[in-house]
Amino acid sequence: MKNNIFDNLYNKKEEELLKIIKNKLKKQEKTFIITANAEIYMKSFNDSNLFNILNNENNIIIPDGILVVKLAKYLGYNIEKRITGIDLCKKILEISDKNKYKIYLYGANKNVLKKLKSIISNSYRNTIICGSMNGYNNKEEDVLKHIKKLKPDIVLVALGVPKQEKFINKIINQVDKGIYIGVGGTFDVLSGYKKRAPKILIKLNLEWLYRIVKEPKRIKRFFDNNIKFIFKIIKIKKEMRKYND
Ligand code: UDP
Repeated sequence: MKNNIFDNLYNKKEEELLKIIKNKLKKQEKTFIITANAEIYMKSFNDSNLFNILNNENNIIIPDGILVVKLAKYLGYNIEKRITGIDLCKKILEISDKNKYKIYLYGANKNVLKKLKSIISNSYRNTIICGSMNGYNNKEEDVLKHIKKLKPDIVLVALGVPKQEKFINKIINQVDKGIYIGVGGTFDVLSGYKKRAPKILIKLNLEWLYRIVKEPKRIKRFFDNNIKFIFKIIKIKKEMRKYND
């Protein structure tokens, strides 16, 4: 028996991904990048729209969560290593800086967004922030109008899973070009409003633990997504074994 849950998961090196992104930006090819963690997979089991997004071969699904990497390997997938949404964002901002690309920022609260814009303007001086909208006033239609008019090269959407993916999926067929990425809490961290885990914890794959300790209200979310995801994958593995025996 073949289970194909991770068939569409990006399994090459980060450098290769950056090459693909640079190329797509040059050719102005539309691209939807999903930074996949346990939460998005768990939600996709009960949501066909999300399931289709993860399984659409035109989309690039990167293994953002360490659990996704470990469980994919456990099921026999050959996954290189974790590629985090936040690191990818920084690299894309560097590419944008070198090429004077236009970027649109959608999501997070007003203060976070304001600070982020000032940080990008100072640290990636050639990037053009062509527009932005905070994520708390239900302005999806306005954002779409802006994007259609402004034609950004890069659109970062920070509304949380699965809102950001559903938004991108809804509008991507209505725009001409652009790299679209759902970036979760990345704006909060890049703006300095939230701290990322110390490097040593990231290296030890314990970033998730840091986030729980810092924000204990995440525990339920962690259980509902990560712990249940582990059991789900173990069950899948058992079924695969039974079938293959
Ligand atoms: N957010 C938003 N609008 C909403 C809900 C969330 O703009 O209606 C933002 C929130 O402010 C945060 C991001 O979406 O910046 C989601 O962050 P979270 O920490 O949940 O994401 P994670 O990195 O855990 O996926």
